[in-house]
Amino acid sequence: MDRRSFLKTSAVTGASAGLLPLHQAAASPTRGEIQSYPTLGRTGLKIADISFGSGRLNAGEEALVLDAFDRGINYFDTAEMYSEGVAETVIGNALRGKRDQIVLASKIVARARDSKASMMEILNGSLKRLRTDYIDIYFNHAVNDVGRMKNPEWGEFVERAKEQGKIGYVGMSGHAGRLIQCLDYSIEHDIVDVILVGYNFGQDPAFYERFTSGFDFVAKQPDLPRAIADAKQKGIGVIAMKTLMGARLNDMRPYESGGATYAQAAFRWVLSNPNVDALIISMTNHEDIDEYLGASGSTEVAAGDFALLGRYAHTNGASYCRHACNDCEGACPYGVPIADVMRTRMYATDYEDLPFAKREYAMLGAGAGACLSCDGQPCQDSCSHGLDVSQLCGPTHQLLA
Ligand code: SF4
Ligand code: SF4
Repeated sequence: MDRRSFLKTSAVTGASAGLLPLHQAAASPTRGEIQSYPTLGRTGLKIADISFGSGRLNAGEEALVLDAFDRGINYFDTAEMYSEGVAETVIGNALRGKRDQIVLASKIVARARDSKASMMEILNGSLKRLRTDYIDIYFNHAVNDVGRMKNPEWGEFVERAKEQGKIGYVGMSGHAGRLIQCLDYSIEHDIVDVILVGYNFGQDPAFYERFTSGFDFVAKQPDLPRAIADAKQKGIGVIAMKTLMGARLNDMRPYESGGATYAQAAFRWVLSNPNVDALIISMTNHEDIDEYLGASGSTEVAAGDFALLGRYAHTNGASYCRHACNDCEGACPYGVPIADVMRTRMYATDYEDLPFAKREYAMLGAGAGACLSCDGQPCQDSCSHGLDVSQLCGPTHQLLA
């Protein structure tokens, strides 16, 4: 049953008024393996539908990377700033001798005024750590300022790097407030081959169509699925990240049954969007890989998935920031980047990865320091999803600064 049929059937049976019976999907295999290698847009590259994200990869975890490779994962996503180059080094070590069997992606934070010379230097560092002479897809990372994509030095840099055979394709990644604006510019000007975007059921209005009566908020990001569809139509490869809406997996364990899990349901939701080619997810242990790859090969939402997703949304919807909605932008007169602060809070409280959260928070400059001496009046009611911004930002600063 595809998503549209499911919605239609649910409406007829009245199932949309409440949660469905618990999961009846097939149990995941005990040893997860990749079942599908979709084509990544016009790049023609075939990559595992559920692939390896390395944002939380630590030194000495080469065996984890190799395990992923052995299960059929052939796409490895990293970035020069992940653990200050450690993630690239680990991937380079682990996959030495396998370069022709994998697709490598890395990223750079190329700012609006950075020079092509400095970008080339950073790329050369990544190549060295990855033990390779080319990167298949090179992303401008976490873009939240369209000036970064407009920077002529960026354009000249990627052309030069391509000519030199150091990169194959160009990408843009993003998950913050001005994501849609940055995507629209990049797609319209046809300056990317691949996009990597934060996308999950909690951001997609289509998900809430079934639950409107039970929710006191409605997702307000209709432009994200639209931008993804625009990309697909142009032949741009689409990879999703942040697919677990905060990844509070342990909250959901009591409600999982039949071997199917919340994470698999969330992945099936993303992969059921025909405009999404694949997703990446941080794999932090071998059990993660088993669980996550249980959803590989899915192109449809399974019966019962909505019950898990709906329960998760009910439990966490009031504290989960849909980063790309950015309705709170401008609400803080002191310049606190609310959506970005919320994202780092998610790393700390939902992912429970404090070191990673601190590293990301450090990149926000003053962050939410101003919240400590503010009465919270200016940002009151600024979140269209009902989050209490002042009560979340101040403590995030205390935790991560
Ligand atoms: S509490 Fe004050 S400083 Fe913090 S985000 Fe709200 S308005 Fe800005
Ligand atoms: S805090 Fe609220 S308004 Fe701001 S980005 Fe997050 S969900 Fe949107």
